[in-house]
Amino acid sequence: MKKYSLIMLTLALVLILSACGNNNSSSGGSNGASGKVGIAMPTKSSERWVNDGNNMVKEFEKLGYSTDLQYAEDVVENQVSQIENMITKGVNAIVIASIDGEALTDVLQKAHDANVKIIAYDRLIKKSEYVDYYATFDNFKVGVLQGSYIEEKLGLKDGKGPFNIELFGGSPDDNNAYFFFDGAMSILKPYIDSGKLVVRSKQLTMDQVATLRWDGAAAQSRMDNLLSANYASDNLDAVLSPYDGISIGVLSSLKGIGYGSGDKKLPVVTGQDAELASAKSILAGEQTQTVFKDTRELAKKAVDMTESVLKGTEAEVNDTTTYDNGVKIVPSYLLEPVSVDATNVDKVLVESGYYTKAELGE
Ligand code: BGC
Repeated sequence: MKKYSLIMLTLALVLILSACGNNNSSSGGSNGASGKVGIAMPTKSSERWVNDGNNMVKEFEKLGYSTDLQYAEDVVENQVSQIENMITKGVNAIVIASIDGEALTDVLQKAHDANVKIIAYDRLIKKSEYVDYYATFDNFKVGVLQGSYIEEKLGLKDGKGPFNIELFGGSPDDNNAYFFFDGAMSILKPYIDSGKLVVRSKQLTMDQVATLRWDGAAAQSRMDNLLSANYASDNLDAVLSPYDGISIGVLSSLKGIGYGSGDKKLPVVTGQDAELASAKSILAGEQTQTVFKDTRELAKKAVDMTESVLKGTEAEVNDTTTYDNGVKIVPSYLLEPVSVDATNVDKVLVESGYYTKAELGE
């Protein structure tokens, strides 16, 4: 009899323990041991956000959180209702990479009323006091790396030129887009002013060069127009592109009219994110450069910040002056971006385990 109750007791214990185990590792399900976190990402159409989302789920689950990961396919209203749903479901915190940085004021008020903490991920959320922390990269430096790459590749410092260049900006509703553009122009503008760089289209400001929602197809058709209106008899030597998806669009436009074949050399084309297609394009001698931002590190930072804010402790930050969202300066942690071209693809992307040689087709 005694033996029987011992067996029953052990069985009951095993059942209870395994139920706890399931809870810990659940994703999008019931509360984990440490709470539940919503992750609102902008779109699956760009690889980087898919990686960011997956990396955060992994990191949060390691710490015992359950997660609710949502993608809004670049539709602002989708993102707002996904965040509302997360609040209704009772998450403790939400990590948000916004689509339109100025469209979340009302929903963040709701989050605040429900005591939900907010971490801005990669992109600053503006016009709200309820942004606890911001994890991102040094966005101005991203632009500087793109501008300096063009400067170096064309030999501008050695007095070479004049060269023809066209400029592309990112999405005008993304705060980062201005940082990238300003960073790049801090290097390029003096050469434009001195005539060593010539922008034949005369499109020089963010309102003229922005690409809504970072859309590669829109960039491609703008490039088509720029080429037919300004470069019928003259070659283009460089394109400032802020993001790999835009670079790929720009390159197909260029290749469409013969750049990259015969003696018509492709211009220097920059980029950002080290997306697989662009890393391969760099190895194939088409896109010239990209800026690598290690999304694994960013995910870890955002997870650390979330954990601190939920535990009521201070998160580690390294910038408390740059990111003014119109209501407050959001305490931020900026990670370092790295310039990548054909000379260091393997060193930066393969040695760090970001891609395998096989993925790159090497
Ligand atoms: C990110 C970039 C990305 C771009 C388009 C920006 O906010 O910082 O890494 O290339 O959005 O997705």
